[in-house]
Amino acid sequence: MAALADDFVADLREWIAIPSIGADPAHHGDVGRSAHWLADALRRDGWPDVRVWDTGPALPAVYACWPAADPDAPTVLVYGHHDVQPVDPVEQWDHPPFEATVVGEELFGRGASDDKGQVAMHLLAVKAHLAALGTDRPSVTLKLFVEGEEESGSPHLLRLIDDHRAELACDLVVFTDTPVYARDAPTICTGQRGVYGAEIVLTGGTSDVHSGRAGGSVPNPATAAARLVAALHDDKGRVTLRDFYADVVEPTDAERADYAALPFDEATWLANSGGAQALTGEEGWSTLERVWVRPTAEVNGIHSGYGGPGLKTIVPAEARIKLSFRLVPDQDPDQVARALRDFVAEHTPAGLHAEVLPAGDGAPPYAVDVTHPAVGALREVFEAAFEQPVRYSRTGGSGPAALLHQRIGVPVVYLGATLPDDRIHAPNERVVVPQLLRGAEAAARLWRLLPGRVS
Ligand SMILES: [Zn+2]
Repeated sequence: MAALADDFVADLREWIAIPSIGADPAHHGDVGRSAHWLADALRRDGWPDVRVWDTGPALPAVYACWPAADPDAPTVLVYGHHDVQPVDPVEQWDHPPFEATVVGEELFGRGASDDKGQVAMHLLAVKAHLAALGTDRPSVTLKLFVEGEEESGSPHLLRLIDDHRAELACDLVVFTDTPVYARDAPTICTGQRGVYGAEIVLTGGTSDVHSGRAGGSVPNPATAAARLVAALHDDKGRVTLRDFYADVVEPTDAERADYAALPFDEATWLANSGGAQALTGEEGWSTLERVWVRPTAEVNGIHSGYGGPGLKTIVPAEARIKLSFRLVPDQDPDQVARALRDFVAEHTPAGLHAEVLPAGDGAPPYAVDVTHPAVGALREVFEAAFEQPVRYSRTGGSGPAALLHQRIGVPVVYLGATLPDDRIHAPNERVVVPQLLRGAEAAARLWRLLPGRVS
């Protein structure tokens, strides 16, 4: 792996130099350039079938296939993305975001960790795998699917999958867009939470009115919004929507034991959580469990009335609440949406009109079946590559793993090697290069191990 490391870093720097910011239409040409850069790199590495899917409406995605020597070997599809987050505020970057800069073991640049670094890790892994075997055919049929819209919520992923059913057919999806728990505690991610977002609009009259002339005689939307938000949780920190927990699948004892064994430092957690002053959350669960395996309701914003200097004595005409729910298996976002509409109807006083509007694209939750043989294989190759005990972890964020699972119809497992403090989506994103080299080592070993384990 060391022999390939210099070329690997040089390639990654070239790719990072293409500002493939999917959110910004001015950069959509760069998303296309980024896709073609990847396709060229794959062809150079010897991948026999490489395609750029760029006929729209999705931003360009890259597909590649390298058939196994053995036609009966399993087929594995590696999923990742090559679009990146915007870089503002750009003045907070210590190095230009699209001129990747190496400082010691770290490589700084937008996309270094999320997700170009991890996709490049797989290119390296295949080279290492073939070099170790001394052949030009991998042990499993490898497919690569790298989309260009993940940072925008993968709005056309469903359509891409359905348009390319034959190409994407496989026995296993390896999802590569998650971190390990920590450098000294490598982990296999076994799930991501889903998300459902909504905006609630409470309306009284058609305009604000004088609080002396009308106040006390008409309902106040701001007061109603505060009461509604206050009623969302009980005093044990549980969400009060009807049947909110009915479909929640609890983690296995093995998973809970693993979470409890991970190093956890409260002060560091608080510092990395915006400088929060205390831990809180649902009673009966640890902090990691609250973030990984328990669902939540968060108020993202409440807006009503006057917020300017001085006092303006009004009863506001309207209040708006933005909420997001993080969901865990087997919660259904549609069922949560229905329960929220009922909750809002029950908590809207007479004389106010309430509307619940969906916000954002949403994503269902996903958890890996940890008894699947690929998970045992992953743990083995991680322990070999990282030379440490490897435990299970999850991530509290959301992604398209459930969609891939549902539409392709096969299990999804996670193979990621980056770190939670890589500052993804933020200024000074970086990747720790040895993490990617170890991740590549793990993947290279996995392709060797899977035949016989997965069919
Ligand atoms: Zn990502």
